[in-house]
Amino acid sequence: MDSDWAVDALTPLNQPPPFGDRNLFREDLALREAVAGARVDATAERLEAAGAAYGATQTMEQGRQANEFAPRLRQVDPRGFRIDEVEFHPAYNALMARGMQAGLHASIWQEAKPPHFESRGHCARAARLFMATQAESGHICPLTMTSASVAALRSEPSLAEAWLPKILGREYDPASKPWWEKSAVTIGMGMTEPQGGSDVRSNVSQAKPVGERYEITGLKWFLSAPMCDAFLVLAQAPGGLTTFLMPRFRPDGTKNAIQFRRLKDKLGNRSNASSEVEFRSAYAQRVGEEGRGVRAIIEMVQLTRLDCVVASAGQMRFALAQAAHHARHRIVFQRRLIDQPLMRAVLGDLALEVEGATALAFRLARAFERANADPLEAAYARMITPAAKFLVCKAVPQFVYEAMECLGGNGYVEEWPMARAYREAPLNAIWEGPGNVMALDVLRAAAKAPEETRDLLARLGEQASGAATAADIVRDLHSGSEPLARRSCERLARLAAAAALAETFEPAARAYRETRLGAAARAQYGACDLSGVERSLIGRILPE
Ligand SMILES: Cc1cc2nc3c(=O)[nH]c(=O)nc-3n(C[C@H](O)[C@H](O)[C@H](O)COP(=O)(O)OP(=O)(O)OC[C@H]3O[C@@H](n4cnc5c(N)ncnc54)[C@H](O)[C@@H]3O)c2cc1C
Repeated sequence: MDSDWAVDALTPLNQPPPFGDRNLFREDLALREAVAGARVDATAERLEAAGAAYGATQTMEQGRQANEFAPRLRQVDPRGFRIDEVEFHPAYNALMARGMQAGLHASIWQEAKPPHFESRGHCARAARLFMATQAESGHICPLTMTSASVAALRSEPSLAEAWLPKILGREYDPASKPWWEKSAVTIGMGMTEPQGGSDVRSNVSQAKPVGERYEITGLKWFLSAPMCDAFLVLAQAPGGLTTFLMPRFRPDGTKNAIQFRRLKDKLGNRSNASSEVEFRSAYAQRVGEEGRGVRAIIEMVQLTRLDCVVASAGQMRFALAQAAHHARHRIVFQRRLIDQPLMRAVLGDLALEVEGATALAFRLARAFERANADPLEAAYARMITPAAKFLVCKAVPQFVYEAMECLGGNGYVEEWPMARAYREAPLNAIWEGPGNVMALDVLRAAAKAPEETRDLLARLGEQASGAATAADIVRDLHSGSEPLARRSCERLARLAAAAALAETFEPAARAYRETRLGAAARAQYGACDLSGVERSLIGRILPE
């Protein structure tokens, strides 16, 4: 009797079972509906298999290890010669290998042909990205940059033709060797300098023409995934700001003059190395005409912003699933948390936010899919990309914090998954254009095409049953007021999310409209009346 009691008292009770092997596709109703709405053939795209692979305990464990054992810079070899290499943990390399097998770095260009190199398959890739980021977010950075780089390389068709076969390769090769010796490559970006990231026109790196090639000298303040096989770099050429492709190895097989000063000690995103780097007359090739550097990167940046939206929605989904799992198993005051009315108000509201973000992300991916053939979809992509990036990416920190609180003290402890998710949460909002830059982009897009903006808002207003809100937003946008830009941007994205939700799950669309666009403003999750919709929202989070 005594010993039984001793065992019970020393055994942790009332702790949830491990989250375990999950299928991130099959178990996610909102994702499945968004994918179906985007007309993706989930079976042909093997999304269930991807969901099982990314939701496997082993993959999640690789995510933990890749962050626990952060990359290390090796500037010199034991003899003091510069090597400028970054060592990654095998778990990071395994995640990269999986991501490239899944085509996250290139699948949209699979059928791209010169001279236009058009992309396809954005929605199917978005579904994979949405799941991959739940296992680990840091390795998404080089996959996204590689995928987006083709949009810039298109401005120099001969370069695009030479590199595309390697970019399309699926076998990740982390070795430090020339790109032409590999079957698959990754491409990074060096835009940001100490004096300016949003304002890239302030770049001072110099590009000196030497025959057909250029030599670049300058300092980049952030250059992530520094072991990429090449980097798209902005620098000042004689004709003005220009985009260049800078491979890690020169054509003669020697290492290019790319020297890392140090790796940044970051809040999160630890699996991904982000360097400060010096280019010392580094070999580079021009991408597009001199002076057209910004033009060359515009479409590339649109693609990275789409990925920020999709990945941020995925991060929220991950946090929601953790919160729901905990609430389903934890008993407090003799009742499961998930059965307590106030916890249901919180979980329902969190679920509604994820439903809106997911529907919006996939509606946006659909616009990218159709933009080449349909001017209305092109207009949607132009206007909604910055608006969605503003809203969805900025929503993540508060969302993850609230989901973390659902786990109580466990949420705040490093071994549980929420601490890492919380540190990762602010990043997508900062890179690829922070909030103000996004809001001002929306304002500029509206000023450039006032009629197109009016038409788009009218359509969204109709789809979301929010004609009056749409008219308000048009008025704000056309006032050109910068101090109002965040308000217009957020409301535009909310309206677009309500319109997207109306296509997939109408009760959620109504609740979203009332709680996020109506007069009843709320600062915290769970502080609004969902009028009973929380029952179905919670039921949709995870299968029993
Ligand atoms: C982890 C990490 C990895 C990164 N990796 C890379 C990389 O691989 N390659 C790369 O090139 N860069 C990279 N970056 C840099 C990133 O893209 C920039 O930090 C970002 O674009 C913002 O630029 P900035 O830091 O110079 O801030 P700034 O441009 O100085 O902006 C500071 C603030 O001012 C606001 N602001 C800007 N303009 C206006 C305006 N007109 N009105 C009002 N407010 C304004 C912005 O919204 C922001 O809040 C990385 C950053 C991080 C954090």
